Amino acid sequence: MLRSLFLAAAGSARIGRLVESAPVSRGIVQRFVAGQSTDEVLQVSRELADDGLTVSLDHLGEDTRTIEQAVAARDEYLSVLGRLKGAGLTPAVEVSVKLSALGQRIDEKLAYEHARAVCAAAAEAGTTVTLDAEDHVSTDATLETLVELRRDYPSTGAALQAHLRRTEGDCRELSTAGSRVRLCKGAYAEPESVAFQSALDVDKSFVRCLNILMSGECYPMVATHDPRLIAIAEDRARWFDRSPAEYEFQMLYGVRPEEQSRLLGNGHTVRIYLPYGAEWYGYLMRRLADRPANVGFLARAVTSR
Ligand code: FAD
Repeated sequence: MLRSLFLAAAGSARIGRLVESAPVSRGIVQRFVAGQSTDEVLQVSRELADDGLTVSLDHLGEDTRTIEQAVAARDEYLSVLGRLKGAGLTPAVEVSVKLSALGQRIDEKLAYEHARAVCAAAAEAGTTVTLDAEDHVSTDATLETLVELRRDYPSTGAALQAHLRRTEGDCRELSTAGSRVRLCKGAYAEPESVAFQSALDVDKSFVRCLNILMSGECYPMVATHDPRLIAIAEDRARWFDRSPAEYEFQMLYGVRPEEQSRLLGNGHTVRIYLPYGAEWYGYLMRRLADRPANVGFLARAVTSR
């Protein structure tokens, strides 16, 4: 119930603009967002890298409706990639990109051109790009863009969402040599016709997808905080004789930092998804939907002002 409320709120641009400009914002977002500026995110990236973690930077913003916004999103990625190289933070730090931020809803070709420019800048900086997964309406277009991008930038990765019924098939398609696949549960509200609705069915799908990725030739990126799924991933890696260099775990900034350290201590690669920027509203609402217990944290941030 709360989950659907937060996911519905996540999709409201009008509420988003109001909340993002409210003075309570800073305290609330600090836990999940690295900061608003490039300087701040580079500082946090440096701290994480010094701790032995790897990072995927996400410049917040999605569902761009004007060409100017899409160009600005592209330019921010080009700028941060240039600075990452200069700061010696590559290849430990890569970038995650939402094609809707680069203009996918305006013109798919434009989003492709923008993504291509980001991939070129990442290659120049010595790092990689992963395409985030958004709602199911965009999945085909995103995976088609991935195929195009990988022709010249084969290390470009993509996220797949276990809650979508189609994802086992997508895992089979992408479990080939050189392919980088992030497997997550899925953070968007989706209808029953395309997505599993119960937590158990999503978890079972996650495990089926994990089996395909771990037994295939791709590089699986296991993106979950779920202790049971993490244990199953460790087990499958052993079963399919994968060394720690042949897969990685990924978690969101601010979520289960002790578990991040435990996995790191056990010799795993752990990548932190690190969002930054002013448009944090949709992202934060999806984190509240993931774990409504975080509402207590939000309430304390508001009342302690
Ligand atoms: P959940 O079902 O949220 O949690 C399972 C269990 O994990 C909980 O019962 C609890 O035991 C533990 N847990 C979870 N959170 C906490 C916490 N804060 N403190 C303590 N224990 C906790 N979604 C997309 O749709 N597209 C993407 O491109 C995408 N990229 C992602 C990238 C990364 C690196 C990660 C980690 C997630 C990404 N997601 C993405 C979000 C994802 O789809 C889920 O919404 C989110 O990760 C929550 O699912 P979960 O697997 O952590 O399990």
